[in-house]
Parts: sequence; C-alpha cells; structure tokens
Amino acid sequence: MRVQIDLDYCEGHGRCHAAAPDLFALDDDGFAAQGEIEVPPDLEHSAVDGAGACPMGIIHIVDGADG
Ligand code: SF4
Repeated sequence: MRVQIDLDYCEGHGRCHAAAPDLFALDDDGFAAQGEIEVPPDLEHSAVDGAGACPMGIIHIVDGADG
C-alpha cells in the first residue's frame, strides 16, 4: 500500500499527522512533508485514518501488487 498526497492542495491543517503521527510527517510550516509514502503493513489502518481525517480530501490510498 502507498499513500499519495496532492501537496499542491495541502492547506496545512495537520490533521493527517494528528490522526497518524507515525505515518504522516509535517514540514516546519505544518504542511504535509511528503507527496508519496510507502506504508508498512502494520500502519495500513493509520493510512486510512489519516486519509479520512484530511479536510481537503487530497490523501489517496493506492493499493496494488507493486505497492
Ligand atoms: S490533513 Fe490534508 S490538508 Fe492537512 S496537512 Fe494533512 S494533507 Fe495537508
């Protein structure tokens, strides 16, 4: 599983990080730090939580055999 974030639309609410701090890092200004995150199996539920928490709806879960 991977997570993709449309950083162009990130407004820096930081709710992804609040929901799943182990997965979603923020930069110094409170915006999502990475546009693409490889999700370890034990953090998949955190990825879903973080995606659901984003008020912009810009966090996308990408499933697939190659990630
Ligand atoms: S919750 Fe969404 S808008 Fe807020 S920092 Fe995370 S990705 Fe950006």
